[in-house]
Amino acid sequence: MRDFSADHRWLSINTATVRAQWPLDRIVDECARRGIRAISPWRDQVAAVGLEAIAQRIRAAGLALSGYCRGGMFPAVDAAGRQRALDDNRRAVDEAKTLNAACLVLVVGGLPGALAGTPRHKDIAAARQDVRDGIAATLEYARQAGMPLAIEPLHPMYAADRACVNTLEQALDLCDALDPSASGALGVAVDLYHVWWDPKLQSQIARAGKARLLAFHVCDWLVPTRDLLNDRGMMGDGVIDIPRIRGWVEDAGFAGYSEVEIFSSENWWKREGGEVLDTCIERHRSAT
Ligand code: ZN
Repeated sequence: MRDFSADHRWLSINTATVRAQWPLDRIVDECARRGIRAISPWRDQVAAVGLEAIAQRIRAAGLALSGYCRGGMFPAVDAAGRQRALDDNRRAVDEAKTLNAACLVLVVGGLPGALAGTPRHKDIAAARQDVRDGIAATLEYARQAGMPLAIEPLHPMYAADRACVNTLEQALDLCDALDPSASGALGVAVDLYHVWWDPKLQSQIARAGKARLLAFHVCDWLVPTRDLLNDRGMMGDGVIDIPRIRGWVEDAGFAGYSEVEIFSSENWWKREGGEVLDTCIERHRSAT
């Protein structure tokens, strides 16, 4: 297992972590200034600065992209809605390519309309079929573009509104069905916030192997968690045994970035951005 205690060369910052403080161009500069070598930006942050401008800025700063957030949200109530989702995912693939991202992360979606507060039906099996079809169609396009797709299983508390793929096993079943040769075009993003509790986590990480392990997202699970979406903890402040799980991931062959992704409306988003990044660096070394 790699020793993270001496430096932060394997640290990536998911730019949602300081989204409340800074626009993306400033985040790029602040990360580069601290010797952080990789980021994973969100589409709305990229759009706010402009795709070409930010791509140029990232290149100039010498930063890698450990991923691009995000595609997905496939389920819809009709064919037109499903087509809109596919069109949007193709644009996301193109953007990820322009930004030279390592993968496009997929948050696959749940019941249509639920994220907006008005679920249009209760058929989660149908939503999962839309997800499977949507990934299959997007995979064809992404394969041509040479952009790997990383399915991110989300904690089951988000099954209705954000993702009806909720365990690593479920995500890997989709990978095996849609990309049976494990070509590298389709894999998973392992986000500890979503999967740390899973009794099958170790065996499914081993099953994933190097070819499917495309991204590794870290934060911590606070006790108590006061908000299901925006109360993620800084590494070391909660109950996830991060080094143990990182050991499993590395035993399976993963050798990429450890991407810090913290949504924290009442704590880290209220602090000065520099303090947040400096704390990420320190905890990456001491607690992951
Ligand atoms: Zn994540």
